[in-house]
Amino acid sequence: MEDAQGGLLFTHLGEASHRAAGGGLTLTSGGSTGNCKHITHSWAFNDSIVPLGARVFGATDDPPRVVINCLTPGEMQGAFQYAAGIVRHIGARLLPAGALMGIQRIARLIHSQAVDALICTPSFAAALFNHADVDEAQLSSLRWLYYIGEPCHQPLREQLARDWPALSIRSLGYSSTETGPIGFQCAHLEHGFYHLHADAMLLEVVDPVSLRAVADGETGEFLLTPLLPDQVPLLRYRIGDRGRILGGQSDCACGSALPILELQGRVETSIKLGGAIITQRQVLCILAKALPELHASHVQVQIDRQANGAHLQLLIAQERLPAGAERVIEEALHNEAQANALLGLPGVLGLQVRRLARGDFETTVAGKTPFFVEVRGAPAKS
Ligand SMILES: [Zn+2]
Repeated sequence: MEDAQGGLLFTHLGEASHRAAGGGLTLTSGGSTGNCKHITHSWAFNDSIVPLGARVFGATDDPPRVVINCLTPGEMQGAFQYAAGIVRHIGARLLPAGALMGIQRIARLIHSQAVDALICTPSFAAALFNHADVDEAQLSSLRWLYYIGEPCHQPLREQLARDWPALSIRSLGYSSTETGPIGFQCAHLEHGFYHLHADAMLLEVVDPVSLRAVADGETGEFLLTPLLPDQVPLLRYRIGDRGRILGGQSDCACGSALPILELQGRVETSIKLGGAIITQRQVLCILAKALPELHASHVQVQIDRQANGAHLQLLIAQERLPAGAERVIEEALHNEAQANALLGLPGVLGLQVRRLARGDFETTVAGKTPFFVEVRGAPAKS
């Protein structure tokens, strides 16, 4: 519906949700590229999503006891309060640190309070577990990492599994600001797989163009219809994710009969530039010729829009690009037909390749590291 109505329908729904009696929690929806909207969820809705989120802890007889919440508090984001509600629901002790205390203070807190579970974004986890001044012993009490807010990409999962073998890494849940919780990852599900909260959420898998249902078990775009009562109904909401629902009976070892979905990623991340739409896949496809095995999480495209046009900076994670190879990549791009066409678009002033630690890529206020990011005038952090 966002596509068809240019977001107008969502804007009207948002305004109606603010006016509803009884108040509620107003959150910013979407928009890492400035396209911000707001939606208000009733307090009853906020209460009812907490037990859904707590399903990730299941009937385990060994739940976390001391949890540090390092999500972004405030900033019109709901995840911090949601996570706090879940920790309260399971009866654990909660340390509301937030993402901005500073990595070293957080590491000291984890050590002094014998914290066994960490809730944060994958970007935060990468910063904490790779910080030069954090001693391994300071984090040795941690047994669980629950991430939320963005996907935990394979390179980070592999690195954490290698360097921190005692740490279990799981998603705190598949959810969104607009819809609330969609799925949970029980202890038996692999990365990318979730039990659908089928009693609270209707999920349809459709062809992204025709919007017709795909065959059972096939991959398509997700349309979401939350079933929990709220200020306004969201019907067949296009969240922008794609995946599939596994066919047949769910006979998961956890005992849940809830169906299992596989989340395969975003429908497509793109930006508008010079009147054209540039997709993440195009950028990675062009780069693959010079740098095979480059993953989306190794790259960030920064767009600095000025009055006379846009400057592009292509950041590549430093471990994926030899020192001094930036000019070689720039030249290769100018000689590659598709990249050259992109750089010739009206309003594109130039492209610079930079080699940078992934932890120094731009992040959103919610602690996510987007593939495309608009920057204002300032050069990237270095
Ligand atoms: Zn299960």
